Amino acid sequence: MLKIGLTGGIGSGKTTVAKVLEVLGVPVYYADDAAKELMNKNELLKQQLIFHFGEETYFADGQLNRKYLASVVFNNKEKLELLNSLVHPATIAHAQEWFSNQHSPYVIKEAALLFESGSADGLDYIIGVTAPAAVRIKRVMDRDHVSADEVKKRMANQIDETLKMKLCDFVLRNNEQDLLLPQVTALHEELIKRSQQQ
Ligand code: ATP
Repeated sequence: MLKIGLTGGIGSGKTTVAKVLEVLGVPVYYADDAAKELMNKNELLKQQLIFHFGEETYFADGQLNRKYLASVVFNNKEKLELLNSLVHPATIAHAQEWFSNQHSPYVIKEAALLFESGSADGLDYIIGVTAPAAVRIKRVMDRDHVSADEVKKRMANQIDETLKMKLCDFVLRNNEQDLLLPQVTALHEELIKRSQQQ
């Protein structure tokens, strides 16, 4: 079974591609969603977060106080790195366990910070999804009802899109000229073929 990463900058269309692949029957692990769930459910991770960021990290009912944590790491590179150094290994371990329970020619791990988090290691191939910055900003503004400045701030936490695509084995162009679906189905066929050659 091939393990394939799927990444791209904010608003590039990773989730859109992942949903299409799911329709084609491919199991998808959504790393960002999993990380959020682990912060609420993984006792060891919860203890670590409380130790480093204080009791306020969780509400009395044990649910993560997302706003508080976001305010602590906002504009504080060291604290953001500390948070990531706790959450990313827990998510990588959780993904490994998920992989071992899948039975499919290939599986997808979708993550915005695949390279930044070190979770690209151990994957057979990486798919990048790319779109021009202006298109990404517009799509995220429409999706999340946020300002262009807010989107640009989120983009600043990620490595440069051009560099990211250079690190990928396959690149899907999700701009306003190339059709996305034919690219996804062609890549799906290619990955099925490669899984049979394993
Ligand atoms: P994030 O990193 O923020 O999670 P993402 O890379 O997963 O973003 P998506 O959520 O898939 O990106 O796409 C961003 C928005 O753009 C969504 O609202 C999606 O419906 C829309 N979108 C994606 N691809 C296209 C397209 N080819 N044409 C029009 N809209 C698109």
